[in-house]
Parts: sequence; C-alpha cells; structure tokens
Amino acid sequence: MAKEEIFQEVDQLKEVLHKSVKTIFAHPETGGKEIFSANYFRSELEKEGFTIHNTDKMEHTFYAEYGQGKPVIAILGEYDALPGLSQKPCGHKEAVEEGQPGHGCGHNLLGSAALVGAIASKRYLEKNKKTGTIRFYGCPEEELLSGKVKMIRLGMFDGCDLALSWHPMDFNCTFEESYLANVSVRFVFHGKTAHAAVAPWQGRSALDAVELMNVGVNYLREHIIDSARVHYSTSCGDTPPNVVPDLASSWYFIRAPHMADVLSILERVKKVAQGAAMMTETSVDIDVEYGCWEMKRSKSMTDVCFENLQAAPSIEFTEDELEFAKALQATLSPQTVASKEALYGVKDCAMAIETSDRDFWQRCYMTASTDTGDVSYQMPMSAFTTSCWPVGVVPHTWQAAAGSGASIGEKGALHAAYVLAGQAFDFLNHPELVEKAQKEFDANQSIQYQSILNHFE
Ligand SMILES: [Zn+2]
Repeated sequence: MAKEEIFQEVDQLKEVLHKSVKTIFAHPETGGKEIFSANYFRSELEKEGFTIHNTDKMEHTFYAEYGQGKPVIAILGEYDALPGLSQKPCGHKEAVEEGQPGHGCGHNLLGSAALVGAIASKRYLEKNKKTGTIRFYGCPEEELLSGKVKMIRLGMFDGCDLALSWHPMDFNCTFEESYLANVSVRFVFHGKTAHAAVAPWQGRSALDAVELMNVGVNYLREHIIDSARVHYSTSCGDTPPNVVPDLASSWYFIRAPHMADVLSILERVKKVAQGAAMMTETSVDIDVEYGCWEMKRSKSMTDVCFENLQAAPSIEFTEDELEFAKALQATLSPQTVASKEALYGVKDCAMAIETSDRDFWQRCYMTASTDTGDVSYQMPMSAFTTSCWPVGVVPHTWQAAAGSGASIGEKGALHAAYVLAGQAFDFLNHPELVEKAQKEFDANQSIQYQSILNHFE
C-alpha cells in the first residue's frame, strides 16, 4: 500500500483542520483552564469512532484511542494559549480583546494537526483492516511545563510504543535532541517588620535577602556552564517603603541542556539563598515546584520523521499569503530577519518552504523548555517543526499569534498533519522500524528519569 493513500486521507480532512484551527484560535484558554478546547477535541474524536479515556484528576486532559494491537502510536496534541497575547490574524498588532489570552505559541495549530494526523491514521487502519492502535493525546498546560509531567505521573502513557510530536515554527526541521531541562523554584524569605525610619535596627528585611540572593546568583553566573540559563522575578507584596518587609520572595527558572546540570546548579543557587538569609538574619523556605526534562535523543525516530518531512506533499503559499507574511515580517527588526535568513540559507524569504538538512537541529539548538521532553524518556519520540510563521518570527509573540490564526499557519499545520500521518504509516507497516527505535531507546538508558513535580498527587 502506498503512502500516498494516507496523505490523501489528510487531504480529505482539510475542512476538519480548518474548523479546528479557527475554533481553538477563537477560544484561547491558558494552561490549566483548557476545558472548551479539550471538549472540542474529545467530541471531534468521538464522532470519528475513537474511544475517549479521561481521568478524574485532570478534567482538561484525555486520550482518544482507535484500533487494536501493536504498535500503539501516541500523537501528542496541545491546546493551551498564553496570557495577554490576544491578537487578530492581521499584519499589525491588534488584540481581539485587550489583555486576554492568545495563541502566541500556535497550539491551536499544534492540536489541530495532531487531530487530523490521528484521524487520517485511523481511517487508514480501518480501510485496510490493519492491526495497530492510534492514540491522540490531549496534553494541557504545556506553557506551564507541567501537563505531560502530570500525565506521566497518572500513568496515561502506559502501553504506548512510540510518540510523535511537532511544533509550529518559522522553518521545516526535525529535532533529535533539543530543548533545555528546567526547574521552577521559589525562595521565600521571612524576616521581622519594623518602622523603616523610626527603628530600622529592629527589623530584619526579607527584601534585602532577596536582593542579596540575586546579586549572589548574578556572580555565580560566571562559574556555571555557558549553555545554562538562570532567570527570576521578585515579589514583596504591597509592602510600603516605610515598613521593613518581613516577607519577600523570588521565583527562579534554572535551565541547562541536561537535567543533571540543572540539579547541580540548583544546589549552588540554594547555597546562595542560604547565604543571603544568613547575611540578613532572615530565614528562607525553598520550594522546587516542578521541572521538565530535556528531549532524549532518538536517531531512528528522527530518520523516519525527516524522510516524511521530505515525502509530504509540498506546501505552496499564494501571492496574498506571501504578501501577508511579508507585512508581518516587516514588523521585526531587519537584523532579526537577516540573521534568521543566514541561518536557514535563504534570501528575501517570507515563508521558508524548503526542508532544512537532516542535522540542522544541531545548529539551531532550541533553548526553550517543554514538557514533551519528559515523554521522550517514556518511549522513543520524534519531534519536528513546520513553517507556520514568517522567517524571523519566534514563539510567544503577537506576530506568532497573528500567523497562527491566518491561512499561512493553517498550511503549516496541514504540512505537519502529513508528516504525522506519514510517520504513522511507516510504523504501522514496518514493525522493524518500531523494534529499531525501541532497541535504541532501551540501549540509551544511561540517564535515569525521575519526574520533578511537587504538589500533585
Ligand atoms: Zn509551544
């Protein structure tokens, strides 16, 4: 059976894709609140004959299953939006509703392409009476970096053989090993109040401790690995300046290419916090809230993914779409666009249509973090991006939100649906590919996965 057949199934689903992209875009929900979006995907999949599996621990997550026997292929769908990024699908910054959330990371595209990839694979299985199981995973809270970590804790991925994932971006590429591991940790200092002018010597300032800790961490930076990222925000409530504050806190993200590095930097940051507490005669509570892992390497999954990026029917953008993309791109600085064009090897390019070379991911290492990394420690996983936004546009911006609501984003999602379905086709028809990926996964067990997630049972 030719792979064309599964691509044709995707073509039959263009209306389903369009409706899904538009509906989720029009109902942006932030992490933890994705009830409408989860229900939308549930109902589309149920209509198609999938069985829905829910958990009473998280209303906004589920998986939908069709078929029987091996392999069990997980297709990961996300659907959360970002606070404050409400945006119309137009070439200038204009909110649909000021201050409201918006799809600045394109998860309306991400979930919709995963939906179509899953339905196309299901129809292919059904028509050809083949053995194999397709699962669509409704993965919430990606922007909080916690959804999939919780789903793993709940055992929702048990029984899967492989996972397929993707993300909207401004180029077509596979990712073999990428994204930084990350922990989120809060340092809460407790001191003693006093009148800041009448008797400051009686006070012990929690805010002094926060400031000294941050100074210490900024000195520490020079002596940690170059590829690490450490950033923070602080809070001292509404304490007025004339009161020595007895409560102040800082919230840190610590990131590095490997969780082991993150945890060792975390230990040093904790010492700085304790030093700051000692200097100010305050005390500190340290709370590691959650964390997500870097993406585990799967060369064989990436090979299959890359072949499908090349085999998928090519995407063409119309003159109007390219004009729209140019207008959006013109809102970026010329240097930003030029440096991306140099990286991708293109010139005067609104939308990158070509697929980057096989090992391009090594040159454009993704320094964000994602809870998809944790899934890659449960089973072999592939990851790729497609061009949904103009060259130079990065996630978490109004430009990315604009592109995600427009037809350029929808075409990028169509491309992704082809690549997801194409991979499913390969794994359903070639058990040796599944075996190869699993052998490689089993052999690469030097790092012991341990979920970092407090406050969730
Ligand atoms: Zn995202």
